[in-house]
Amino acid sequence: MNLKELYQEIILDHGKNPRNLRKTENFNKDAKGHNPLCGDKVHIYLKLNENKKVEDISFEGEGCAISMASASIMTDLVKGKEENDVKEIVNDFLEMIKQKNGIDTKLLKDDEKTKLMCLSGVKQYPMRVKCATLSWHTLTSAIDRSQNEINTENIEL
Ligand code: ZN
Repeated sequence: MNLKELYQEIILDHGKNPRNLRKTENFNKDAKGHNPLCGDKVHIYLKLNENKKVEDISFEGEGCAISMASASIMTDLVKGKEENDVKEIVNDFLEMIKQKNGIDTKLLKDDEKTKLMCLSGVKQYPMRVKCATLSWHTLTSAIDRSQNEINTENIEL
């Protein structure tokens, strides 16, 4: 299996069987995101404990395989991390999608970086970039409480 096939396999797996697709009980942060170009919708729920650690994260939503896989992978990777570390991972991922060739953060293990890299294929397709980044922008919004609802049409990529 080559790298491209491996990446596709991971996306298909997460797209078909999204992890953390549910609503966190007693969540204390949340935000919604909408990508009108494709019709993707996500609602991210976050439960931070007193040490600002992500005790639980989940999402509800519907959309294409890329958007669902991205939300699934993201929620899997940031669970158990501290708020500031989550922000670093989000920024690293968004920069990779925009311009970089890899994931630099030391906060993730190699197999976790591979999961993020499988979304790197969308770079060549601007419409798909919005699908892949929707849940990440929404997570940032939930943490910062910057906007209640993210609309990818208003986000510079
Ligand atoms: Zn989409």
